[in-house]
Amino acid sequence: MISVDKVTKIYDNGSVAINNVSLNIRKGEFVFVIGSSGSGKSTFMKMLLKEVEPTEGKIVIDGININNIKRKEIPFLRRKIGVVFQDFRLLPSKTVFENIAFALQVTETSPKAIRRNVPAILAMVGLTHKAKAYPNELSGGEQQRVALARAIINKPPILLADEPTGNLDPETAWEIMELLKEINARGTTVVIATHAKDIVDEMKKRVITLQKGIILSDKEGGYNYED
Ligand code: ADP
Repeated sequence: MISVDKVTKIYDNGSVAINNVSLNIRKGEFVFVIGSSGSGKSTFMKMLLKEVEPTEGKIVIDGININNIKRKEIPFLRRKIGVVFQDFRLLPSKTVFENIAFALQVTETSPKAIRRNVPAILAMVGLTHKAKAYPNELSGGEQQRVALARAIINKPPILLADEPTGNLDPETAWEIMELLKEINARGTTVVIATHAKDIVDEMKKRVITLQKGIILSDKEGGYNYED
C-alpha cells in the first residue's frame, strides 16, 4: 500500500530530515511512527502527502509512483489518504454536519448521497446528537471524532494521523485510539505519528522508530521502552 524506497530529504538549509529510509506498509496494517522531536516524523508524513518532495528515492502509494505525478493530479493522491492532525483543523463557521459534508462536496458527491452518508459516519463516531453543533461547542475529543469522520468519509484506503491525541487527556486519547482501531478493522491502512508512549506500548502494533532521520527499529507487536 505504501512503499518507501531509499528516500532522503535534505531541506534547503542543509538539514537532513530523512536519511536513506526504506520501508513497506501493507494494506490493512496499523503502524505507529515514533521518535523524539526532530527525528523526521513530520517530514516522513508530509512526503506521503506530497507536501514535501524527497531529495532522493521513490515513494509508491496504492500503486502510484508519487514522484512522477503532476501537480494537477495531486488531488487524486489526496483522495487516497485521509488525514487528521493534533489541532483538529475543523472549519469554525460550519456545523459538524457541514464540516463532514464539505469533504464530500469537494469530491462532487450528490446531495442525496451526502444526506445519506454524513448521518451514517456520525453514528459511527458516536456524534449523531452533535450534528448541528459548531466546533467551538465541542470538547477536544469530540472535535477529533469529527475530524476522523471527515477524513474517512470518502473511504480513502489510507489514514494518516499526525499526533492525533496530542491535545487530549489520557481517557479521551484512548477513545480516539479505539476509533482508529475500528477504522483499521474496517480495512483502512492506518499510520500514526505520535509521542504517546503508553498508548504505543499498550496497542501492540507495528512500531517504526525514527532517530535523526534513520529507522532505529521496526518492530511488530509493540515497543518496550525498557529494551
Ligand atoms: P519531527 O516531526 O520528528 O519533529 P521533522 O520532520 O519536523 O521531525 O524535522 C526533522 C528535521 O528536519 C529537523 O532537524 C528539523 O529541524 C528539520 N526541518 C523540518 N522542517 C524543515 C524545513 N521546512 N526547513 C528546514 N529544516 C526543516
